[in-house]
Amino acid sequence: MTNSYTDPEDLRWKCHKCDMFLSVGPASLTYMGKTINARLPVCPQCGFVLISEELALGKIAEVEQLLEDK
Ligand SMILES: [Zn+2]
Repeated sequence: MTNSYTDPEDLRWKCHKCDMFLSVGPASLTYMGKTINARLPVCPQCGFVLISEELALGKIAEVEQLLEDK
């Protein structure tokens, strides 16, 4: 297991609006009142952050565990 928040597979996605391949960059998402900073696939043009449901559920669970372990 790695600590990366991005699977190489995610980078095959394109932004629907811009038709550009997503690149990995820092992004923040808010979940249950917590702001989580992670490296996620983002559109370089409009800043759209790709969060698939699977990614969101899996990664947020991971991140929550990290927060709890502190
Ligand atoms: Zn875009």
